Amino acid sequence: MSIAENIDQVKSHLPAQVQLVAVSKTKPAELLMEAYRHGQRAFGENKVQELVGKYEQLPKDIEWHFIGHLQTNKVKYIAPFVHLIHGVDSFKLLKSIDSEAKKVGRIIPCLLQFYIAEEESKFGLSLEEGTEILSLAEFKLLKNLQISGVMGMATYTDDELQIKKEFANLKSIFGRLKSDYFAQNPDFKEISMGMSGDYLLAVEEGSTMVRIGSTIFGERNYSTST
Ligand SMILES: *Cc1c(COP(=O)(O)O)cnc(C)c1O
Repeated sequence: MSIAENIDQVKSHLPAQVQLVAVSKTKPAELLMEAYRHGQRAFGENKVQELVGKYEQLPKDIEWHFIGHLQTNKVKYIAPFVHLIHGVDSFKLLKSIDSEAKKVGRIIPCLLQFYIAEEESKFGLSLEEGTEILSLAEFKLLKNLQISGVMGMATYTDDELQIKKEFANLKSIFGRLKSDYFAQNPDFKEISMGMSGDYLLAVEEGSTMVRIGSTIFGERNYSTST
């Protein structure tokens, strides 16, 4: 199937309020343009250098989502244009995003990444760590970023019940934070969960944003990618 057909196929399973982020990491600009010509505007990348290169080369009405692990010293390269940073999991990174956003006169939307999987992972906050950050007096001084919601990744497994349980947990974390910290803030509204293998389950559990790569662009081949 073509990229356009793949996008239509995925979208046929998404309720209208769920946004599709087409994850284009490792894929050449021509393939992103194929999706763009079919109307796709939100693209996700996980490497700063690759994202900047594609931003420079491609149409300026694309919404670029950063979905990888962001190092504080690289925030400056994407601050001028990034649409949403999905994987924020430390106060140090929030401070860096705020300071780079200030330099370019922007308010950058961010999602807090929570650790919901069973697998060992270096990335993502626990609920306690998340609430600790949101309670910091110093956090309230950050005026050039906006927390737009939460993001998480489920365990890579065939066990659908396990995956659903993890997505339900992220949804409940979202609800807790919403009522405790963002009740008056309509910008706190996104639950970024669901990838090619599990997005149908994520949508059932309340995802507002799915990040889908291989189902749209085909399998990634890391050994030959540049
Ligand atoms: C690569 C990636 C995706 C997309 O994965 P697919 O399985 O190809 O759909 C989604 N989210 C994150 C954080 C990723 O790194």
